[in-house]
Parts: sequence; C-alpha cells; structure tokens
Amino acid sequence: MDQESLRLFIRREIQNGRLPHDGTTRVWSSPSDGETCDACDATLAKDQLLLEAVTLDLGRRPLHLHVRCLQILDNERRTTVIEPTISSGFSYKDRAKLIDQEGLSSVAREALEFQGGERGSHFEATLTQQVAEELLAKCTELGLGVAAIALRAELKRLK
Ligand SMILES: [Zn+2]
Repeated sequence: MDQESLRLFIRREIQNGRLPHDGTTRVWSSPSDGETCDACDATLAKDQLLLEAVTLDLGRRPLHLHVRCLQILDNERRTTVIEPTISSGFSYKDRAKLIDQEGLSSVAREALEFQGGERGSHFEATLTQQVAEELLAKCTELGLGVAAIALRAELKRLK
C-alpha cells in the first residue's frame, strides 16, 4: 500500500471504530516476531521493529504496529474529526453496530458505509425514506435511542 492509500485506510478504520480515536498512553518497541500490524493488516517482517501501543480504551488489547503505521495513526487521530453526531445523529459506534447487523438490506448497508471516511453529510444525501424506515426499525430493536430520534427527524424531512 502506498503512503496515501495507507493514510486513507487508517483514517477509515478510525472512523469506523476499529482503530482507536483516543490517544495511546505508552508505546514499547521490540524486534518483530512476525506479528500482524493492527493498522495495515500486513505482517511485520522479522527485521522490522514492533511497536506495542497501549490505548486509553482499557477494553482494548495493546495495538501491534509498524513504526510508519503508528506515525500515520497518531497524525490521523488528530486530524480526523469524529463528529459526535454525523449529520443525522449517528455516532460512529451506533453506525458500526448497525453495519454489523445481519439481515440489513444492501441499500441500507451501502448508505451507512458510504458515510465512512467522509466528513460531509453523504449519508443524509443518500438516505431514502425506505432506508430510513428500515434503519429506524433496527435502531428501535437495538435500543439505539439517539439514532432513532435522528432518523425520525430525517423521516419528517424526507416526507
Ligand atoms: Zn502497519
């Protein structure tokens, strides 16, 4: 992966919650033993340095990273805005939860995934009444109250 693709990839992983948006508290380095980098999913070669980064999210195991990947991750964390409410009120965690649901229609999944990596309101632009109704039902089922309120507001706008 070239530097720019890697940067975009890591940014996307931060936005969808797979990589932490919170900072790292401690970083250790040691020779690699063939671990997999959590940022780029590539194997760390034996002659590369393995960085283990402890994150503020205590539920997370330390991240294994290439030196280059940690630098990009740190930089992207600072510049990536995780809006608490993405245009229509979804937090990125709610969105990730919805995307993980089985039985979601492909249109709804696409609308949700389309938002990833964008700061704008692409989701809003691609949201149809049918998709909003489907997602509202899911949110109600999953107890995602804030997202449900946001969707009801969207539905009013769409009607
Ligand atoms: Zn890497």
